[in-house]
Amino acid sequence: MALAAPVIVSMTLSSAIPAFAQSKFDEQFVSYPTYSGDDLELLVDNSGTHFRLWSPKAQEARVNLYENGHTGKPYKTLPMKFEASNGTWTTSQPEKLYGKFYTFQIKYDGKWKDETPGVWAKAVGVNGERAAIIDFSKTNPEGWAADKGPAVKNFSDVIVYEMHHRDMSMHPSSGIANKGKFLALTEDGTVTPLGEKTGIDHLKELGITHVHILPSYDYNSVDEANLQTNTYNWGYDPLNYNAPEGSYSTNPSDPESRVKEMKEMVKALHDAGIGVIMDVVYNHTAENDGSNFELTAPGYYHRHWDNGKYADASACGNETASERKQMRDYIVNSAKYWAKEYHIDGFRFDLMAIHDTETMDEVARELKKINPDIFVYGEGWTAADSPLAKDRRALKENVSKMTDIAVFSDDLRDAVKGHYSDASDRGFATGKPGLEETVKIGIVAATPHPQVDYKKGNNSKFPYATSPEMIVNYVSCHDDLCLTDKLRKSMAGELEENLLDAAKLAQTIVFTSQGTPFMFSGEEIFRDKKGVHNSYMSPDSINAIDWNNKSKYRDLFDYYKGLTALRKAHPAFRMTSADDIAKHLVFDKIDSSKTPNLISYSLKDNANGDAWKEIKVVFNGASVPQTTTVKKGNWMIVAQDGKISPEGDLGVTKGGKITLAPYSALILAQE
Ligand code: CA
Repeated sequence: MALAAPVIVSMTLSSAIPAFAQSKFDEQFVSYPTYSGDDLELLVDNSGTHFRLWSPKAQEARVNLYENGHTGKPYKTLPMKFEASNGTWTTSQPEKLYGKFYTFQIKYDGKWKDETPGVWAKAVGVNGERAAIIDFSKTNPEGWAADKGPAVKNFSDVIVYEMHHRDMSMHPSSGIANKGKFLALTEDGTVTPLGEKTGIDHLKELGITHVHILPSYDYNSVDEANLQTNTYNWGYDPLNYNAPEGSYSTNPSDPESRVKEMKEMVKALHDAGIGVIMDVVYNHTAENDGSNFELTAPGYYHRHWDNGKYADASACGNETASERKQMRDYIVNSAKYWAKEYHIDGFRFDLMAIHDTETMDEVARELKKINPDIFVYGEGWTAADSPLAKDRRALKENVSKMTDIAVFSDDLRDAVKGHYSDASDRGFATGKPGLEETVKIGIVAATPHPQVDYKKGNNSKFPYATSPEMIVNYVSCHDDLCLTDKLRKSMAGELEENLLDAAKLAQTIVFTSQGTPFMFSGEEIFRDKKGVHNSYMSPDSINAIDWNNKSKYRDLFDYYKGLTALRKAHPAFRMTSADDIAKHLVFDKIDSSKTPNLISYSLKDNANGDAWKEIKVVFNGASVPQTTTVKKGNWMIVAQDGKISPEGDLGVTKGGKITLAPYSALILAQE
């Protein structure tokens, strides 16, 4: 979930950053002993089953052992012993307890708290109430040892496709058997009634490099015990961070099934050459006092204000405290766990600015040791104020203080299609003047550029990125109106063909801009959400993609295919340094007060080793035709009037005056 960042004119960096930016109330947690071993909560080895719970201030602690994940009383309760030096409680059983379930309980302030599966449950029973003891070596699909995601040379080579498991497969037209499940993306050969490819074959056909799956850890809101009346949720309400969500498995009561099936999904995508990025929401928990964090180490994992109230930068009731050692380690180790156990290729951090920059640096650094191709990006903003000092937040404005972390550019997003919070507001691509400079900020990936006047930027007033690899460009995502709905509301009264033209133009800007392009699933076939802007718990009738659209909007889909192919074939759109962009990307001088909604630039001198010597890119976001002047020469036509050919075989032109249709892009190339 997300909001946009506030306008930040410049960041004042304090020279003396305190060791812990926190409230008076939170000072008590600084002195807690911490534990950094990798055997937290559960370890099964040849000497038996071992439990180790971190809970420095508990007065007593115990483990309840169960025969199943949901009903009945514990068959055994084990008291735990305290190790004061590291704040953990331990107990063991001599046998391997595979197939059993457990919960922890601590006594705190003289009272036994509710049972909890702990914070490190890697397998869980139905609804994540009890942790499960399973043999992970039995959950691997065939060929798992050799499984690997696609190689990524530079992050600007990645093309992200953001999707929700149910959106992709629930509609009858998907032709997919395992609807709403991890297994949906393991089915090949699925088609619409008219024979158009769906599911994983559709992704291959489209040409994206990575899927970004909406939260797929175990979340709170969907009742896994009642799948017949299954409800929909985006999943931004974390329950168990280290186990997959049960409703996406074929049997949530069988703890192995969710693990196995998620791995099978990853394997199928990897076999198709597609990477898997996971949306992670370490910034808050679904519940406050009832969260697994609070039930194991009260107070420690969350931030509070001076008066002891939960701080709430997530606007979901609370926020976590990444600056505290045990919480920072938790985030880092949890991400590492997904990378190692599930071969996850990237992480999208929800409300990343709730975390501190040091933590995000450590996340990226540690993940790279596992796989240097792992891509980490996030929302460089919070949803409300936080006790964490601004200069320590992983804000987009602080992105260049971090290493190997990218942020979403809300600059490009809002400038191209109109403001996210005002449905009727138009953007550069839909005829609103005055946004040219903000679009240019997106085109140069918020890097310093001699021809971009950041003072005229709408969302940011300075070049906050020092490299294009720090920027993810997009016009829409799961949040707010999807592109189709935004166009329908803001262009109300216009012909649908105009909307389709604007959709093509908007996405052309994203895919030709420097940085990493990101798109929302289904927009390539003009999917809508019936005008619902916050569909986080709307039914499938709102959220599911109607794949019949693929025949109806085949021309739009082919255009998107052209965009991915163009970008992949031409490194000029994927430069890797700010210097290269400043040198090779040259804007043509256009007086926006006289000819608004027109941007023209060249990618010169075989930019980034491109086979094309020069590429001319022109955008006309006006509702009327506009004319541009291209220098004389032999140009191949790559895109014009809503058509695209990555090979540049739409014809040739000698340059001179060229008129662009309303809401359209012109791309020319010279060898
Ligand atoms: Ca769940």
